Amino acid sequence: MNKVSVLIAGAGPSGAVAAYRLAEMGVDVLLLEAYPQCPEDMRASTFHPPTLDMMEQLGLLDALEAQGLRAPIYQYRNRATGEVLALDMGEIADVARHPYRLQCEQFKLTRLIASKLGNHPHGSILFQRRLIHYEQDDRGVSVTVETPTDIERYRCDYLIGADGANSLVRKLMGVEFSGFTYPEKFLTLSTTYPVDKAFKDLAYVAYMADPQEWCVLIRVSEFWRVLVPALETDDDKVLMGDAKKIAVFDGLVGQGDAVVTSHRTVYRVHQRVANSYRQGRVILMGDAAHLNNPLGGFGMNSGVHDAWNLTEKLKAILLDNEDPDTELDRYERQRRTVMQEFVQAQTMRNKRALEAGAAAAQGEAQAQLAAVIANPDLRRDYILHQAMIKSRVREAELA
Ligand SMILES: Cc1cc2nc3c(=O)[nH]c(=O)nc-3n(C[C@H](O)[C@H](O)[C@H](O)COP(=O)(O)OP(=O)(O)OC[C@H]3O[C@@H](n4cnc5c(N)ncnc54)[C@H](O)[C@@H]3O)c2cc1C
Repeated sequence: MNKVSVLIAGAGPSGAVAAYRLAEMGVDVLLLEAYPQCPEDMRASTFHPPTLDMMEQLGLLDALEAQGLRAPIYQYRNRATGEVLALDMGEIADVARHPYRLQCEQFKLTRLIASKLGNHPHGSILFQRRLIHYEQDDRGVSVTVETPTDIERYRCDYLIGADGANSLVRKLMGVEFSGFTYPEKFLTLSTTYPVDKAFKDLAYVAYMADPQEWCVLIRVSEFWRVLVPALETDDDKVLMGDAKKIAVFDGLVGQGDAVVTSHRTVYRVHQRVANSYRQGRVILMGDAAHLNNPLGGFGMNSGVHDAWNLTEKLKAILLDNEDPDTELDRYERQRRTVMQEFVQAQTMRNKRALEAGAAAAQGEAQAQLAAVIANPDLRRDYILHQAMIKSRVREAELA
């Protein structure tokens, strides 16, 4: 039986940040990942200012900046009316140490941390290790792990389930994942084609209302990424096919045929929060604990903020002899409340606003946003919300 203080299942952004921070704090931690390496998928690509502060504290920011793009401005564009509303995060430079979004894919973070954990006195990472079961008692948690050739057993003081949306840890806990799944699907396409040439002054992050089909355009270092909605009844093969690709880019740049894509992904979107984040010594975080639509780029950031909060509590318990129930209950209270009040509410508002803008040329949502942007106080408040600074303030207020 291998013993470790904290065992984390899942080396996505949440699990990786938690593991590295605990190791840096001096807590012995083992990170287990089911795949042979940190998956390189087309998912989160936006780091918000509080997350950038955390990356700086971990000494990871320079390496991420070197692989990413700074996006201080994001836009809401209405293609029917030609209206462009822009928000500049430079306006919150007085409270944000990093007043911009960093456009950098999540796998660049997880792979960076994996390389650092490969040679750390307090932390380690093992790949091709899938948690398949756990049992806990008063003194710890026994974890069963499957490898391609073997079954391994571990014993830890605390188990963190950072194993993503389909979390087995959450299922084994028997915790309900309350919420709903949107009836539509989302299609994302990435391309090296210069999509920005078709628009005047296109920002690296642009939400586009459109009477035919709203979309989001996101720039990362190597690609433009395009996200469009699709019907629940649309066949995935058709959505991933060339005819759909041509239609999407015909609408955007007028030359769908000429656009070569590097990735195409279809996925379902959920708004769900686990009814409980904790059972004794087993704790959930990241997508294992909550899911939201990607409009605003809050999913990965929320998972990293969970990791930040939880690692403080575990350090207090394991190194400073603080009371476990007090600390872990507070983790759940703070992070679950912020998830409900802020992330769930804001992402649903963001989606409604984009859809409403598409529904009518003079979309009411667009007009409301224009009014917010025209008012300096409301504009600042809006930017602070979208930059996740308000949610961090709220979290700290919760006892
Ligand atoms: C298309 C798309 C775009 C997105 N864009 C953004 C964005 O711009 N900004 C943002 O903040 N968020 C975004 N998100 C959401 C973001 O990707 C997720 O919120 C984030 O990946 C959650 O991180 P995580 O570490 O909690 O889970 P995951 O990234 O899902 O990681 C879980 C890990 O656990 C591993 N695992 C699973 N089961 C086991 C097991 N039993 N044992 C061991 N390992 C296991 C998996 O292989 C995986 O590596 C987007 C999501 C999608 C789908």
